[in-house]
Amino acid sequence: MQSTDFGNPIHVESLVRQIHAKSTRPLTLMEVCGGQTHAILRYGIDQLLPPNLRIVHGPGCPVCVTPAETIDRAIEIASSPGVIFCTFGDMLRVPGSQSNSSANDLMHAKSQGADVRVIQSPLDALRIARAESQNTSPGAPIRQVVLFAIGFETTAPATAMAIRQAKELQLDSFSALVCHVLVPPALDAIFADVDHGIDGLLAAGHVCTIAGDHPYHRLANQFNLPIAITGFEPVDLLRGILNLVEQLEAKPTSCRVDNLYEHIASAEGNLPAQRTVETVFAVCDQHWRGMGSIPQSGLKLQPQFASFDASSRFPQRIQPGEQTSCCRAADVLRGKIRPIECPAFGTLCDPNHPLGAPMVSAEGACAAYFLYQSLVPLNPSKLTSSVLTQSEFPNPKDNLAP
Ligand code: SF4
Repeated sequence: MQSTDFGNPIHVESLVRQIHAKSTRPLTLMEVCGGQTHAILRYGIDQLLPPNLRIVHGPGCPVCVTPAETIDRAIEIASSPGVIFCTFGDMLRVPGSQSNSSANDLMHAKSQGADVRVIQSPLDALRIARAESQNTSPGAPIRQVVLFAIGFETTAPATAMAIRQAKELQLDSFSALVCHVLVPPALDAIFADVDHGIDGLLAAGHVCTIAGDHPYHRLANQFNLPIAITGFEPVDLLRGILNLVEQLEAKPTSCRVDNLYEHIASAEGNLPAQRTVETVFAVCDQHWRGMGSIPQSGLKLQPQFASFDASSRFPQRIQPGEQTSCCRAADVLRGKIRPIECPAFGTLCDPNHPLGAPMVSAEGACAAYFLYQSLVPLNPSKLTSSVLTQSEFPNPKDNLAP
């Protein structure tokens, strides 16, 4: 398939028809990728599906799962004198635990004079640290550059490269506040709940591109779960959904892993990237926002890189506050509800007044529903009751919100 075919309405129409034809019973499918969440909502893919086919969204947004106490630490470190704090833009408005204080996010710290800089890659922070160390006037203290290192398996290699280079360069003014998390252990936590209610899983192809597909084979076996590894374009997503419907409608039901992202993700993943991560990080237990502590789901610095750990370099004075929000992000992240089923959605909570991280982040599920909720609902009965001509078939791009 050519790259230009992944949004082709003819392929979309064919896949939607096959899904309608093969779907005979209520099914709930989970995806775990902010990019997939937004693509599903943006292109109205959920509205093209049979009414008994429900898509829920798991912990696929790294910003959304970063715990409030880590945001507190980020604000505290960013507000320290002589610090340049480097972060992805999504993190600026994620609330910490001090809900009674206006100083509860990095944006506020920046407005109060903290040098908070938005970066595109962890290596940008390294470049800033190198420039600072070379440009400082003689005798003046070199400013500390702190990288807020968050993300899944996909961003951990770039963080590891930045830290490894900082060690090679003996760049002592560089450090990282590390909050990287791993997807499969979070899925273990979700599917270990006997009431999870999820029939099949769309796995994110880009995570498998780095980590390989072997964790998903174990998940499929352990939880009798059909899994389709897929991408982010309409045809990718519909192929994944069709694959899961076929596995679930088969008799007996199938519970295998099918890699539909095989043009990019190999079974073993990106081995050099994995080695870089293993050199710099060790796996550790990790607290996830809304999901609690999950065993072996995070990364911490290996002992030989411990001096680059910002959390031990900067003293902690602020204790986590008590969180009393009515935000139901925990239920959203576990696929128990969809964002529109949260009572605060669009009333108490919107992107201008977010109560939780999923409404803040560009990859958050709540933000996706809010952004694209104005889509005109399609009539699925048209897809089954008559043959549409090409001109009648809805072009997903027509559904884009203004
Ligand atoms: S809509 Fe707002 S309050 Fe509800 S779960 Fe999402 S972020 Fe939390």
